[in-house]
Amino acid sequence: MSKPSTFPEQEQSQPGDEHKMNPRPEIIRDSYRGSDKLNGKVALISGGDSGIGRSVAIHFAREGADVGIIYLEESEDASKTRELVEKEGRKCLLLQGDVSSYDFCKSAVEKCVSELGQLNILVNNAAIQFPKDSAEEISESQFRKTFDTNIFPYFYLSKCALKYLAEGDTIINTSSVTAYRGSEHLLDYSSTKGAIVSFTRSLAKMLASKNIRVNGVAPGPIWTPLIPATFDDVSDFGQDTPLGRAGQPSEVGPAYVFLACEDASYITGQFIHVNGGEIIGS
Ligand code: NAD
Ligand code: MG
Repeated sequence: MSKPSTFPEQEQSQPGDEHKMNPRPEIIRDSYRGSDKLNGKVALISGGDSGIGRSVAIHFAREGADVGIIYLEESEDASKTRELVEKEGRKCLLLQGDVSSYDFCKSAVEKCVSELGQLNILVNNAAIQFPKDSAEEISESQFRKTFDTNIFPYFYLSKCALKYLAEGDTIINTSSVTAYRGSEHLLDYSSTKGAIVSFTRSLAKMLASKNIRVNGVAPGPIWTPLIPATFDDVSDFGQDTPLGRAGQPSEVGPAYVFLACEDASYITGQFIHVNGGEIIGS
């Protein structure tokens, strides 16, 4: 399928809805063939209702995993994701709530294990962003909310999941290209994404002796609900990348499959840069 390089005007507020996007993102390539890479595994994915998280859920299901998905309030998108996972012949547990609450994160992990029987893969992926062009425009409460939503829950969910993760299991964290190159529009957001990189590297070292691997994906511009929900003008979104266009969720999901499965058994503390060609130094 040819990928769009320009996008029409559209208005949404956060959290955005995938079913209102024009055009709809590509979730998984029709030609993607599963090969039991995650057979019998159970994954918990925050922000799994839409965008990158939905793509990860469907790829994991096609590879043989059952999934639990956490989402804030987008029940229509979440139901659609469950339908798509079930079409792959796997189970999908919907977990609605706010990840900035430790108690909710704990209950989401517990429910995932009690309903799906185990937990092998945690994907920390939920996030918000509030673009602002100057530091003066960023309120203290906005700065705090971005950290409360984007990084604290990665710790909460990881901590609670560790009770259940065993040798060979994995944690995968979504960061962003903005962590590596900075962003003049996203001071608070890019700071949380940088924190996620260090969190990933440190947790990887902490868990290496247990053979629990911790890695991440740092996406560039990907066509998801977050984009029309937070940027005023999306017409040329992604055109400033070397590949000259935005990526689709279908082009990000496979990186999570790779990191989650045994093919990546000697990889921990690392990031895959799915960003249309921007060269990342370290
Ligand atoms: P998305 O809007 O589809 O996904 C974000 C999800 O986070 C939402 O579905 C929402 O349900 C969830 N969420 C937000 N606040 C929450 C809360 N308080 N409690 C529970 N869930 C909450 O957008 P996406 O682009 O797929 O985002 C997924 C990840 O990808 C995020 O970490 C984002 O920072 C990262 N990312 C996206 C891009 C991009 O261009 N789309 C680029 C770099 C990184
Ligand atoms: Mg959503």
